[in-house]
Amino acid sequence: MTVIVVGAGPVGVTAALLLARRGVDVLVLDRHVDAYPQPRAVHLDDESLRVLQDAGVADAFAGISRPAAGLRLLDRDGRVLVEFHRGAGVHGWPQASMFTQPDLEVLLRRALADEPTATLRGGVEVVHVEQRDGPVRVTVHDRATGAEEQLRADAVLGCDGANSTVRRLIGAGMRDAGPAQRWLVVDLVAAGPLDVWPGVSQVCDPDRPATFMPVAGNRYRAEFRLHDGESAAGLDLAALLAPFGAAGAEVVRTAEYRYAAQVADRWRDRRVLLCGDAAHLTPPFIGQGLGLGLRDAHQLAWKLAAVLAGADDALLDTHQAERAPHAAALVRVAVLVGRLMTGGGRGGAAVRRLVLGGVRRLPGISDFALASRTPPLRPGRLVRRPRLVPGSPVGALVPQPPIGGGGRLDDVLGPGWAVLTAGGRVPPDWPGKVLRVGTGPGEVDSPELVRWLRGRAVLVRPDRIVAAVSPYRRIPS
Ligand SMILES: Cc1cc2nc3c(=O)[nH]c(=O)nc-3n(C[C@H](O)[C@H](O)[C@H](O)COP(=O)(O)OP(=O)(O)OC[C@H]3O[C@@H](n4cnc5c(N)ncnc54)[C@H](O)[C@@H]3O)c2cc1C
Repeated sequence: MTVIVVGAGPVGVTAALLLARRGVDVLVLDRHVDAYPQPRAVHLDDESLRVLQDAGVADAFAGISRPAAGLRLLDRDGRVLVEFHRGAGVHGWPQASMFTQPDLEVLLRRALADEPTATLRGGVEVVHVEQRDGPVRVTVHDRATGAEEQLRADAVLGCDGANSTVRRLIGAGMRDAGPAQRWLVVDLVAAGPLDVWPGVSQVCDPDRPATFMPVAGNRYRAEFRLHDGESAAGLDLAALLAPFGAAGAEVVRTAEYRYAAQVADRWRDRRVLLCGDAAHLTPPFIGQGLGLGLRDAHQLAWKLAAVLAGADDALLDTHQAERAPHAAALVRVAVLVGRLMTGGGRGGAAVRRLVLGGVRRLPGISDFALASRTPPLRPGRLVRRPRLVPGSPVGALVPQPPIGGGGRLDDVLGPGWAVLTAGGRVPPDWPGKVLRVGTGPGEVDSPELVRWLRGRAVLVRPDRIVAAVSPYRRIPS
């Protein structure tokens, strides 16, 4: 059984790693030979790091990233309007990590080279994908020789980015989830550490909203919204960087980006599926574009591996059903944060302070901004959430506290379905390895997990999302 992954960006290579680690043969194709060298993403949250953990690269990622202090919204005079802290979190990794995307891409490619069932082929452009009965046929154009070749696969993942060819070939379109904006991205290198706040600073100024953050090592990133018709050449960068204390840093790259807010209207045509930027585009104000793509890959890899091993193809219907609403929700939060950066209009800081004071009460944004929690998946075939159970963990990731004296829960659970119980009755039809948590014989010690389980048993999917909760609790003695 072979899967062809179109696109060796971070999402495609992560998907390939996750499939290869489940024993699937994977061929990754990219029009370029090397990883894309320009920095784009700089932030990943702790949920995304659990995806990298499953792909076997999270510890290496910790070596190329650094934890961030959080997010500050400032007024145009540099006064703090709202501050959201980031720290250790419940997922076993820092809630916010800063890094440069090319470092991550190199790391992912190295890990893929170590997987015996995975191959990466660069310099080939996918030009056609066709499905009749039987395998999917993929036509590639070799950019060095000009030759065309036809390959066959049992499934194809379109991880080919914003201008996805696979998306076009399956007849999918993009739906706008907010207006596009033009921003200038400035990457900086400083001779020594700059005396700046160690988190992300977003300046709420209707005339010139801006973002500044330390990345990793001696690298920094600044972003400025461009007015219509404006370009980098017309800006006094030293003056724009001075309020951040970065006027002396060397500008190593400037690039103009059009930040779109879009979600694809179709994520699957039979055995061809979309992941990552091919399926959704978001403004980067909450640093979630890549994080969304990593979740797509994580939630799809085990389903696809199961289907290739004989499960019903209908399992793949859950890909769009689960991922599209989640992606759309986070794109909306990003659009909202972008609006808040200009909130209060030109009425001044006092009005803006009022608008931003309401951030904590806005549905969707409060959880994300305060606790770095993304919305739970909606109820469906693989998410059995009873109605009227407020605070139910179903549809969200199980936390990952230390377990059994310092191990990580996901590593202990392994790649399949699992059941966690702290004395709760385990329904007989629940699949997977059963992990009993507590201090008794045969139980794994984790006081945090015992507290979280509150006597319940939970069914955990291979992507660590809680699929169901057992209604039968242990009776306290
Ligand atoms: C300025 C900026 C800042 C950002 N900041 C963040 C952030 O802080 N946090 C975050 O999570 N995200 C951020 N993002 C978003 C993040 O960079 C993207 O979401 C991520 O790169 C998407 O990965 P991908 O693998 O889906 O697509 P890509 O990285 O675009 O990879 C697609 C790959 O497909 C290949 N390809 C395309 N078409 C074909 C074809 N026909 N045949 C063969 N190969 C093909 C391409 O060569 C490419 O290698 C930011 C983006 C920008 C621009």
